Amino acid sequence: MTFKAVRVDKAEKGNVARFAEMEDSELMDGDVTIRVTHSTVNYKDGLVLGGRPGVVTRFPMVAGVDLAGVVERSNAPDFASGDEVLVTGFGLSQSHFGGYAEKARVPAKWLMKIPAGLTRGSSMAIGTAGFTAALCVLALERAGLAPEKGPALVTGAAGGVGSVAIALLAAAGWRVIASTGRPAEADYLRELGAAEIIDRNELSAPGRPLGKERWAGAIDSVGSTTLVSALAQTQYDGAVAACGLAQGPDLPGTVLPFILRGVSLLGVDSVNCPMARRELAWRRLSRDLDLAKLARMTNTIPFKDVFSAGADILGGKVRGRLVVEIGP
Ligand code: NDP
Repeated sequence: MTFKAVRVDKAEKGNVARFAEMEDSELMDGDVTIRVTHSTVNYKDGLVLGGRPGVVTRFPMVAGVDLAGVVERSNAPDFASGDEVLVTGFGLSQSHFGGYAEKARVPAKWLMKIPAGLTRGSSMAIGTAGFTAALCVLALERAGLAPEKGPALVTGAAGGVGSVAIALLAAAGWRVIASTGRPAEADYLRELGAAEIIDRNELSAPGRPLGKERWAGAIDSVGSTTLVSALAQTQYDGAVAACGLAQGPDLPGTVLPFILRGVSLLGVDSVNCPMARRELAWRRLSRDLDLAKLARMTNTIPFKDVFSAGADILGGKVRGRLVVEIGP
């Protein structure tokens, strides 16, 4: 049997990703075989689709860091044929075949049943980006932050992580300040729950090592000088959850926010996040994320359009989340 997939091969310069027919016999090891119905487009997917090096560590690879689908065959006691399941991260699209394929086989320990209240489609509307936003909210809470302490900043606000972060923080009672380079999306951001919109240039240009204390916490998916500015304007005992590098991976700042204001920098990783924390984050998402807001931030595209969507996300043109319909 064959299945359609986005296959990534090593090229002379970088990598090349393209649609290919693959054989069932090529599927990688795993206890559970899944008919994939939905995947998503995250920033990292854009990098892989565009042939950029650095994500894929084994060739050939199947792209797609997220997948949802129906179990076809299982050798694991926790999953049975017909179960609706999802995987985000782990090795998908890096060292293990990912979600841009009509079929996948993965270790059972990576799998989760679709959480109550969500569907395969809505769980992928959340996907890695939304799951990461939830991990950031949980990280701020673990650091002792709460809405009474002051507002929360969200950078990269109109992107995938940013959109879900706004909705989740607003649902938890935070006053959310959304930083965006797309002022035309102000109404969209307000509908998600932002109370105030600021121009991202305020943060992305180099600033003073310590600025006016403007927020108690922040969720940053942008990195670089934006993250440095977010830290510099975080109030005493506040915290910034850092998960992304849309502006850059550098951190050109000073230690002053840490040593003079007790500000904490909280690293957030969704890929190798332990299962217990994953379950907590998904429970939070299924409980708190308003499905009407999720629908507002989501566009669904057919499998054939995944390459143009990848280029769009790298170009900062995607608003919110993109779900890819892989198959029935
Ligand atoms: P998106 O492209 O959807 O969102 C990124 C947003 O960042 C854009 O929408 C834009 O927001 C803003 N942005 C883009 N370029 C720049 C720039 N040069 N300067 C300042 N702001 C910029 O991506 P995702 O939300 O899927 O991912 C966001 C980041 O988080 C990525 O770097 C990704 O790799 C990372 N990530 C990390 C994870 C982890 O496990 N740690 C998991 C998921 C994502 P606006 O238009 O509103 O300004």
